[in-house]
Amino acid sequence: MPVVRAISVSAMRIGIILPEDKAREVRLAIADGAYRVNGERSDARNWILRSAGDTVDDGRRRVALIRFEPDRDPSQSTIIVRNCRAGRGFHWEQRIDLMLPGVVEVQSCDGVLMVVNELPLETYLPCVITAEMSGQCPLEFLKAQCVTARSWMLAATERKHAKLGIDFCNDDCCQRFQGISALSEAAKNATQATTGQVMIHETGVVVDANYSKCCGGIVESPEAVWGRSKPGQYAVVDGPDVDGVGRFFPVGAESMAEFVDGDWLKQTCAYCSPNVVPDDDLPRYLGRVDDGGGHFRWRVVYEAYELADILNRKRDLSASRIWDLQVTRRGVSGRATNLEILYDDNNHRRRSILIEDQYRIRDALSRSFLYSSAFDLRIERSEDGWPVRFELVGAGWGHGAGLCQIGALGMGILGHDYRTILHHYFESMRIEVVTE
Ligand SMILES: [Zn+2]
Ligand SMILES: [Zn+2]
Repeated sequence: MPVVRAISVSAMRIGIILPEDKAREVRLAIADGAYRVNGERSDARNWILRSAGDTVDDGRRRVALIRFEPDRDPSQSTIIVRNCRAGRGFHWEQRIDLMLPGVVEVQSCDGVLMVVNELPLETYLPCVITAEMSGQCPLEFLKAQCVTARSWMLAATERKHAKLGIDFCNDDCCQRFQGISALSEAAKNATQATTGQVMIHETGVVVDANYSKCCGGIVESPEAVWGRSKPGQYAVVDGPDVDGVGRFFPVGAESMAEFVDGDWLKQTCAYCSPNVVPDDDLPRYLGRVDDGGGHFRWRVVYEAYELADILNRKRDLSASRIWDLQVTRRGVSGRATNLEILYDDNNHRRRSILIEDQYRIRDALSRSFLYSSAFDLRIERSEDGWPVRFELVGAGWGHGAGLCQIGALGMGILGHDYRTILHHYFESMRIEVVTE
């Protein structure tokens, strides 16, 4: 039996409100069912909890921890936690009420409250896959998404919040979890049909299976994204062998322009291309996608002053003018992993900075966040040689490593089953049921 790290599949701990949210007061409402509060039956439906140093004040008493446990049928018991942060630190950050199954715990740390939802893995998973995917997706795709998410969790190589005593947070930082509000029957069915299944690499470890929205035609290697290999995760051509996208592997400086907008795109059978998953159909599959497109290909244009303004704000450059952008290293999918920016500062001194990470490149080159770092740069210059306009013609959405969600959706639409989909993205692995 493969070794599974110390995550309890019957009681996963998900951080809902974190100390960094600096909540001094939390409002809860029992929506359905009956709960025991610190072991005692309670009829109170609405709770206002305040932090009092290292204790929680519920209006009647101060205790180190308040724990709400379903008294009878856990599947019929839910608590609403008001005003939770979603999209922490991103431009789309908002406050939402979360409807949570399972146990809810509130404790105080240094004057601020932390809220934890404790629930079984198999209850948590369909909520995660429904946070991005709609019930209209093919079932085989949802199963593949479910096994991928389960594998990532149980591989548990990224325990960012272990010090807080939780397994994951509820946000994009780990995996998006917004309770049961958007839960669909399809997601429940996909979870049930694959209960306990994870991908195991031939070395015996659980595959640390990442996923991202759209690879752009070629799945990126983990080395280019995280600077290290991951057993079971590889660069992959995201299409059938006969398809033309394979000839670009690996995408280099000389083939980037053709890769992002050559004529071959009209006929490509790449699984994440609009020829397999039409852009018009995406909103109903992906539910909450920002603007409907899959961003297999995209285009962003900046006037020179605009780009200087963005870089000054994002990177604190004090640039008067941007002279050049040069991609000095790319991953196999065309994603820039090194970008050099040449500019004149306010004293007309020529300077340069190097950005060495696809995530930081995406952050630096956009007011919000660039879809991906796989772009061909086209710079229009004036007669004196200074750039007038920067055009980024790009491919894909997200870091592009692991499972390509829109590609996997495309394979599902073409009729492939979830095992075939997973073997396409994660070679040399087997699917096994893992229990505690
Ligand atoms: Zn997190
Ligand atoms: Zn793809």
